[in-house]
Amino acid sequence: MMSPRQAAFRAAYRAQIAPAYSGLIHVALIYLIGGSALWYAARHIHGASLAEVAVVPAVMILANTFEWFLHAKIMHRPVPGFMGIYNRHTLAHHQFFTEDAPYHDSTRDYRIVFFPPYALIAFLVMASAGGAVLGQIWSANAGWFVVCAAAGMYMNYEFFHWCCHVRDDRIIRHVPFVNTIRRHHIAHHNTAIMMNKNMNLTYPFADWLFGTSDLNRGLLGHLFNGYQTRFVRTDLSKPRGGPPPAMAAE
Ligand SMILES: [Zn+2]
Ligand SMILES: [Zn+2]
Repeated sequence: MMSPRQAAFRAAYRAQIAPAYSGLIHVALIYLIGGSALWYAARHIHGASLAEVAVVPAVMILANTFEWFLHAKIMHRPVPGFMGIYNRHTLAHHQFFTEDAPYHDSTRDYRIVFFPPYALIAFLVMASAGGAVLGQIWSANAGWFVVCAAAGMYMNYEFFHWCCHVRDDRIIRHVPFVNTIRRHHIAHHNTAIMMNKNMNLTYPFADWLFGTSDLNRGLLGHLFNGYQTRFVRTDLSKPRGGPPPAMAAE
């Protein structure tokens, strides 16, 4: 059930989306830029060694930790210089989507589901700088693998986040990793835990590593948890879905 407050926020947010905005063009742009970067970088890789290929899982782990850091320390904290990110995420995305009403209604709502394309460009510039350094000090293949893996992880992030906020889950509820992150992220939209739990959006690796998950189980259990709720911790800040504390009700 959507609260009147959330419904009012949605109406106000939708009213200020530019009439010319197209959610499908927004998404197409992200995947065109990300896909081109991946394709361009992949074309430069020739005869890679096993060590060079190992750059891919290493970057995936780094990107997963970076995603956790950005979400926990920038998107949910009012840090001077990054207030736009905090406003867009904590004050808009989390008002638009709550644990009780986490679904978007139309492609115009993509405005608040997907990051603006310039975030991807900033991310690719950072990854390319890292790739260039690695290319200089070790091998060109390794440097290009950095760009490939970073672009792939970014598109992975956006796709999984969309999977969290789409209403129809008849297929994705059966897809490993996607079902895990969907439960994980919708739980994160519970205002009681959103400031300090379930910060990952791809795979809940860093949440498991840093103890910021709402689950109490091992790494493999975290990754393949799916929709299960029997491992949800019982010591979370407030009972999830329970009645609000007496003081807040007054
Ligand atoms: Zn979300
Ligand atoms: Zn959040």
